[in-house]
Amino acid sequence: MHQVDVAIIGGGLAGSTAAALLGRAGVKAALIDPHAVYPQDFRCEKIDGPQIETLRRMGLIDQFMPAMTYDRQVWIARLGRLIDRRRGDQYGFAYEGLVQAARSAIPSSVDIITAKATDISTSDQLQQVTLSNGDSITARLVVLANGLNVGLRHHLGIERVVTSPCHSITLGFDLRRRDGQPFPFGSLTYYGESTAAQMAYLTLFPIGSTMRANLMVYRTMDDPWLREMRRSPEQALRQLMPNLHKLTGDVEVDGPIRIRPADLYVTTGHRQAGIVLVGDAFATSCPAAGTGTRKVFTDVEQLCKVHIPSWLASDGMDATKIGQFYDDPVKMACDAASSALAYQLRSLSIENGFVWHLQRWSRFLVRAGIGAMRELRAVVPTRPLQQRPGI
Ligand SMILES: Cc1cc2nc3c(=O)[nH]c(=O)nc-3n(C[C@H](O)[C@H](O)[C@H](O)COP(=O)(O)OP(=O)(O)OC[C@H]3O[C@@H](n4cnc5c(N)ncnc54)[C@H](O)[C@@H]3O)c2cc1C
Repeated sequence: MHQVDVAIIGGGLAGSTAAALLGRAGVKAALIDPHAVYPQDFRCEKIDGPQIETLRRMGLIDQFMPAMTYDRQVWIARLGRLIDRRRGDQYGFAYEGLVQAARSAIPSSVDIITAKATDISTSDQLQQVTLSNGDSITARLVVLANGLNVGLRHHLGIERVVTSPCHSITLGFDLRRRDGQPFPFGSLTYYGESTAAQMAYLTLFPIGSTMRANLMVYRTMDDPWLREMRRSPEQALRQLMPNLHKLTGDVEVDGPIRIRPADLYVTTGHRQAGIVLVGDAFATSCPAAGTGTRKVFTDVEQLCKVHIPSWLASDGMDATKIGQFYDDPVKMACDAASSALAYQLRSLSIENGFVWHLQRWSRFLVRAGIGAMRELRAVVPTRPLQQRPGI
């Protein structure tokens, strides 16, 4: 029987980062996860500038940075045309490498327990977590960071409500040029050429020496295009983005294609004594909106830096204390922005109404204007935009 102040269930990005922050703050904590080493998984594969700043603020940047590849320069293409080039601010990684980086920041004072949590009982004072190895843990607070896993919560009356089933589908694969030459950009964001493509964008970015592709589409899992993508990926990509080759050259998919649908869901019944939910365990975001890690880091930073220290400073762990986290204005603003962006991006990508056409063209013109100004000021000292293929 272990006794700690905080028992964290789930050692993914949220749980491992929380364990690092709490351990470094001198909180007696335990991290429970069935995998000693996080397994290969298709999840988030890049973060950008604001998340880097958050990691710096949390004092974790030195552990995370070696797991990431900086993209140096990003090209933006809309409606099949290159319209802007700017300094890069994206960092690519394999998800399992990022989680390992978070775990490497956990001090040895935190108990890391390789087991599955099989049951939780909660109260105003002490919580008990039962483990698959026969042990149990007593804690003043349980942080539930078990991601997409729906176990453990039903008997506590905590439910998951799917608000948008299969909101988007993300495809991940490696891409290389057939001529063996390097790509002419550090990274590329390529928006759909028309609403008929039913896609948000394709993003190409480096992970080590590999050019990784994440393609976000709004389709159903039985869509024939997905079958075509598995059977003949180059042909399927050409069908979706006929002008992509003008920017990338002739390309081929290298290795497996991972395809993953994302449901949007929220949680109900979570305002309870003794237990708090963070990251995907609380709510998902759309991978196309790219706000999942922002939500994870916001949850963890607010919980571990603001709320847990103050909760532990007084007796008990009642529902009023826990509610302070869910009512935290920083968390609430982050969750609301993430949800709004998920729906806005979907409509902007596939809706055909006049208002959406107008918004698409406004964005195109604004972005093109910014790109032209940047070229004029020669902020990016490379060949003029007009000499680029596809212009
Ligand atoms: C395909 C895809 C692409 C994405 N792309 C982006 C992107 O570009 N940008 C972005 O910001 N976000 C993106 N996201 C979202 C982002 O990956 C997630 O929001 C983030 O990984 C959630 O982290 P987490 O720690 O909450 O969950 P996870 O990393 O899933 O961690 C959950 C952990 O809980 C453990 N666990 C489960 N059950 C138990 C149990 N009973 N006992 C103990 N441990 C348990 C698991 O082993 C796991 O380690 C993407 C998601 C997907 C699926």
